[in-house]
Amino acid sequence: MKEIVTPPVYWHSSVDAVNEDIKKIKKGKVTKLLPSAGNRPIYAIEYGKSNLPKSKASLSSALGAFDYRCYADKTGEDYVPTVYLAGCIHGGEFEGTVALMNLISLLETGVDLAGNRNDDLLSLSEKLHLVFMPMCNPDGRARIPFDNFVGHSFYDLRYYNQGTWKNGELCGYPECKMIHPIKEVSGHLGGYFNDDGVNMMHDDYLVNPCNEVKNVLKICRDNAPDFSLLFHGGGNTFNTYFPVSYINADARRQMMEVANMATEAFAKEELIFKMIHKNFEKTGGEDMGLPPFMLTSAIFHVCGEPCVTYESNQGLCDSDDYRLTNDQIYRSHMIFMECLFKWTLENKSSEARKAKLKK
Ligand SMILES: [Zn+2]
Repeated sequence: MKEIVTPPVYWHSSVDAVNEDIKKIKKGKVTKLLPSAGNRPIYAIEYGKSNLPKSKASLSSALGAFDYRCYADKTGEDYVPTVYLAGCIHGGEFEGTVALMNLISLLETGVDLAGNRNDDLLSLSEKLHLVFMPMCNPDGRARIPFDNFVGHSFYDLRYYNQGTWKNGELCGYPECKMIHPIKEVSGHLGGYFNDDGVNMMHDDYLVNPCNEVKNVLKICRDNAPDFSLLFHGGGNTFNTYFPVSYINADARRQMMEVANMATEAFAKEELIFKMIHKNFEKTGGEDMGLPPFMLTSAIFHVCGEPCVTYESNQGLCDSDDYRLTNDQIYRSHMIFMECLFKWTLENKSSEARKAKLKK
């Protein structure tokens, strides 16, 4: 039985709510990016000192010269690390968008959209260069007719997010990935996809990326973020990472350090963060094969720094695996961002780099 709940006041997740909030931004720098396939605007919002690297070479060429600094020189005394956070890559997964709109409110006004302070997160945020894209796939989001998945059913998640074939049958996961772009064969086009039926996580990255993907990759190429995070929802999963392939051991080590911090911090508030996704838990990935080259891998290959998918619990009514409320979902995101920002400052600032060299 569905248990539809009215979302809390701070739950700004729709295309209109996000665009209205972006119009009110005064301290942040708003940039209009390429429009979506359905011609909806897409924005990036930036806070803090920008470190646009004085790039002399592409990442590949720099690594060919054995010197990352030719692509992005992060050795300056005044280097401020960059964190890139992106929400609503899949239209039916907007928990991270809510978190980002509340973090923007904190940075703009000192309080979140419920009027509450979060001074720990705010003071960490103010020490970083932050780049946000809260609504990467507005076409997909516009196809979801409600603002809150909490209390909805697993059927709803599949219908609205993955959609149906022409005969009305649910596409399902992972079958919804068998045809790409999916538009011509879909009955109801799900929120996963832009209006051309492209799933950003599995686009044709090297030859023909869609505008939505170009936006993400250009931001990461230009800013060389020290850590990038794509917010997703995963039904009633534990808060977790979705595995990422085709990255190097150092990036993986950094991801795991953040995950370890998050696991501990979540436990202190009786929440759960697991670094290994349930689909891969039994055999560490071998039962499902290696995850493919996805948007996370593509980001690693344009900037050479770690990028992860954070999968949130979505509070569905008919799975008892692990079911969170709106407040718990929101708090989980805030805890994770606090860990990520703290780790980034401790490991990627010019002071941290110098301290490591002295050891
Ligand atoms: Zn997703």
